[in-house]
Amino acid sequence: MAALIVVDMQSKQKQHDFIDGSLAVNDAAKTIPRIVQLIEKGNWEVIVVSRDCHPQNHISFADTHNKQPFEAITINDHKQELWPVHCVKNSSGFQLHSAIHDALNQSPNEVIYVDKGCDVDKDAYSAFQASSHDVQSILADHRVQNFYVCGLAADFCVKATAMEGHKVTGLPVAVVEDATAAVDDGSDWRGELQECGVYLARTTEVLL
Ligand SMILES: [Zn+2]
Repeated sequence: MAALIVVDMQSKQKQHDFIDGSLAVNDAAKTIPRIVQLIEKGNWEVIVVSRDCHPQNHISFADTHNKQPFEAITINDHKQELWPVHCVKNSSGFQLHSAIHDALNQSPNEVIYVDKGCDVDKDAYSAFQASSHDVQSILADHRVQNFYVCGLAADFCVKATAMEGHKVTGLPVAVVEDATAAVDDGSDWRGELQECGVYLARTTEVLL
């Protein structure tokens, strides 16, 4: 049986941090009907839903360092990209998009919500780095044999989740390319995924 991992589809009612809010991703809104379809029509052993969940003064926020967003800095030999303030825990920008939220609530499949980037000094792009849960164990406990990744953003958290997930589980992994969107669509996120052995799929193929 397969699992679906839905990455960071976070919003508030009128503004969505990754959809049209502080860190809007181009074409993010187009992914919503596809992800709703995957949640409603797929036969999943488990659906894992990741949420970016930051404290106010998080290490990934440009404001924390008095820098401009979209710069990168080096902290302890580690490259840290800097972003606008986004997905602050319990803020409206932390909430899942309402259409995704409603589809998950009505899903007959088991849904597990996992939070990442919760510590002030640690960022996490991959759902497998979640602070709240061990996603690898969730997949093993459910005897998942392969999984699909969708959500935002293709070139950051979706890519990191798919690559790390494939590496740590050894399972076949596919990114649903019409159910994701990139911060920089000029980047070669598709090529990087394929180089790491991650497949690309389309919603219609997944729901066959
Ligand atoms: Zn973040």
